[in-house]
Amino acid sequence: MPKVHQKWINQLPLHMKEHAVSQTKFREWLPFNMYLAAMRHRIGCVCVHHATWAMLEQAYGIIRKPCHRSKKERVGTIQCAVGITCNCTCDACTRQGTLLEAAVCTYRGLPRLACVLQHCDDCGMKPLLTCDSKERPKMKHCHSKVRRYMPIEKQFAGHKVIKTVEPVTRDCTLSDVVEELANNAQFMLMHDYLARRLAHMFHHHIDNLGREEEVWVMDYIENFTCFEEYALQQDHYSHNQVTIFVVLCFRHRRPNEEVKKVTYSLPAHLTCELHAFISDDQNHDAGFAQLCLHMILQTKRERGELPLRLKWWSDGGPAHFKLLQQLLFIATVAMTYNVVVWWCFFQSCHGER
Ligand SMILES: [Zn+2]
Ligand SMILES: [Zn+2]
Ligand SMILES: [Zn+2]
Ligand SMILES: [Zn+2]
Repeated sequence: MPKVHQKWINQLPLHMKEHAVSQTKFREWLPFNMYLAAMRHRIGCVCVHHATWAMLEQAYGIIRKPCHRSKKERVGTIQCAVGITCNCTCDACTRQGTLLEAAVCTYRGLPRLACVLQHCDDCGMKPLLTCDSKERPKMKHCHSKVRRYMPIEKQFAGHKVIKTVEPVTRDCTLSDVVEELANNAQFMLMHDYLARRLAHMFHHHIDNLGREEEVWVMDYIENFTCFEEYALQQDHYSHNQVTIFVVLCFRHRRPNEEVKKVTYSLPAHLTCELHAFISDDQNHDAGFAQLCLHMILQTKRERGELPLRLKWWSDGGPAHFKLLQQLLFIATVAMTYNVVVWWCFFQSCHGER
């Protein structure tokens, strides 16, 4: 950081050098993508629902622990997974694995839909969420400082307030956390099920990819702000943004196709083309996506490399992918290029995986 700070000062006009901000302020002003790689703490492609749930579950684990401590009960075989002196054998004390795993009869592979919908008599999230003997009486009193995802507002000196969801440390009671887990359980079980089921389907498409087929994965990468290197003037956050639309085309390797250095893991007979489109259009609308897809298809046609079947995967963004206009587009593509098109949607927030 001292080096980056110095480098920034060096490039400032002479009259500004003297009043340059301190290293602390400089660090505070930096947008996260200007941090050195080792210092970055934001991970781009984590599903916000899964991350929120995982952190909540972790908080639950921390707050409930003291409830299961007891001096009297150091006897017999202890089955409780929470406290080493708790003799309780209830579902909440003896559950194995994470809440999402334990709340259905079988998790590996895929659970039965009845379990996911909580219609099954043999499983469920409810009994896992509170130990009646150890936790129930202390629900409102047991509390601890835990990390949780919360909506917060951020502001950098002289710039607009940014609304975001980030982990913050809060003092929470056991009942707060249990209530939130209970409220989100149904949504999360289904979200997790769909995400895994759709991921299975996607991998199935890749594993069974035919010679005449291609699987395309497409998405908008959020508006990137373009910075001049180390520029830290007042208009820092108001520089023009760009839109990046990326399309990955998975296909069979062609005979004699040169094998470049591979940085992703795919079966040896497959390869993946990356098409990236950069534009100053920030609407993320269907039109831009369609234009990009047409350009790829045209290029492939010119080279005589059009496949017979296309399996397209995108997220379900209602503004640019999941809308009626796309049906017309698919029909147009099918007619123009003489291909069969499937459009598949990843579970929301899982398109980048
Ligand atoms: Zn998720
Ligand atoms: Zn226990
Ligand atoms: Zn079940
Ligand atoms: Zn118990």
